[in-house]
Amino acid sequence: MNAVIPLHPQTAGCSTAPVIRERGQHEVFCGLTGIVWLHRKIQDAFFLVVGSRTCAHLIQSAAGVMIFAEPRFATAILDERDLAGLADANDELDRVVARLLERRPDIKTLFLVGSCPSEVIKLDLSRAAERLSGQFLPRVRVLNYSGSGIETTFTQGEDACLASLVPVMKTAPDAQLLVVGALPDVVEDQLARLLGQLLPAGTTLGFLPARRSDALPAVGPGTRFLLAQPFLGDTARALEARGAVRVAAPFPIGVEGTTGWLQAAAAAFGVEADVVDRVTASARERAAVALSKLRGALQGQRIFFFPDSQLEIPIARFLSRELGAELVEVGTPFLHRELMAEELALLPAGTRLAEGQDVDLQLERCRADRPDITVCGLGLANPLEAEGLTTKWAIELVFTPIHGYEQAADLAELFARPLRRKALLTARVAQPAAA
Ligand code: SF4
Repeated sequence: MNAVIPLHPQTAGCSTAPVIRERGQHEVFCGLTGIVWLHRKIQDAFFLVVGSRTCAHLIQSAAGVMIFAEPRFATAILDERDLAGLADANDELDRVVARLLERRPDIKTLFLVGSCPSEVIKLDLSRAAERLSGQFLPRVRVLNYSGSGIETTFTQGEDACLASLVPVMKTAPDAQLLVVGALPDVVEDQLARLLGQLLPAGTTLGFLPARRSDALPAVGPGTRFLLAQPFLGDTARALEARGAVRVAAPFPIGVEGTTGWLQAAAAAFGVEADVVDRVTASARERAAVALSKLRGALQGQRIFFFPDSQLEIPIARFLSRELGAELVEVGTPFLHRELMAEELALLPAGTRLAEGQDVDLQLERCRADRPDITVCGLGLANPLEAEGLTTKWAIELVFTPIHGYEQAADLAELFARPLRRKALLTARVAQPAAA
C-alpha cells in the first residue's frame, strides 16, 4: 500500500507556465445542457427554460425523450409575437407557471432558466422569479438563472444554478463542511461515508445542491466549503459573500486527486494526515489495483484536450500522473488560477496549456500533432474521426460518474475503450494485406 500522496508536490508543475490565450469561434454547448444532470440531482425541482424552439430542441436531444416519467424540465416557447414585443411575455409566463404548478404538486423549487432569446428581448426573469415566489411560497420557491451561451460553455449552467441557490440558504450557526457541485448520488454517498469517518464528531456535512429542496444546506462564517467540480467560480464567490471559506484542494478525480481533496478537508478541521491514510487505505488499494489493469492501454498515449467541460486540467493531471499518458495540449474554456492552483502545480512541467477557443487554430495544432486521442465536443468529434483521429466526447465526462476512488478506473476506461477500438480496427484493416 502506498502512503498518502503529499498534498503539496515537490515541483511547481505548471503553476507559472505560459498559457496560449485564444478568443475566436467557439464549438461548445450552452449552459442549458446542465439541466440534463441537474434535474436528476435535485429531485423535486423543475427547470423551465424560457426560450425558443432551438432551446427546446437542444434540451430534448441532450436529455432524450422521457416516455414513462413526468419530465422535470420544459421550455416555455417565446414565439414571434413575444420576440417582436407585441405580447406581454410576463403575463404568458405567469399563466404557464400557474398551470404547471397546479398540475404538479411534487415541484418544490422552480428554476426559470434564461436563454439567448429571453435575454435578447430583455425579459427580466429575476423580477419574474420574485413575483412568482411571492405568489407560490411557501409551497414552491421560484428562482432564476441564465443558461444562455454564446461566450460561455455548458458547465457554466450548473455554476449559475448553484449560485442562484446561495442567497436562499439559511444561515448556519456552527462549523460545517459543505461539498459543492452536483455529483451522482452513488458518488456523493461514497464521499459522504469517507468524510463522515474523517471529520471530528459533531461536524455537520452538507452537499450543494441537495437532493431535495427541504434539505438545502445552510451557510455561514463557520462553513468551510470544498469544490467537487472545477467550474463553480460564481458559486464559490457567492458562498464567500455569505462568510464561508473555501478549502483549497485538488479535485476528487483519480486516486491522487481524491486523496488530496480528503486531506485538505481533514486538515481544515484539524484532523491529522495519518487518519486520512488509515480511513482511505482500502479504497486506495482497490482503486490502485483497478487502475493497474488499464495502465498498459494508456501509458505513453498522446492526448489532446479541446476546451469544453472545464474538467480538462484535473483529468489531464490524472491521466498523466496515474496512467502515464503524455499531454500534447490541455485546453480549457476558462483558467481560474485560484481554483486551479493545486491542479496546475501537479501538471507535468512543460505541458502546453491553452485558455479560450479559436477552433480553427486549435484544429490546425491538433492535426499537426496527430494525438492518439482527442477530447472534444460532439461537433468536432465526427470530422476528426473521419480524418483518422480517435476522439472522446467531453460531455460524456460530465454525464458519467468519474469522481472518487471507486470511479477512477471507470474514468480511465472511458479513454482506454476508444484506443482499444482503434487498435482492433487498425489490426483488421492490416490483416488482409498481411495475408
Ligand atoms: S440558450 Fe442560446 S445557445 Fe442555448 S440553445 Fe437557446 S438559443 Fe441556442
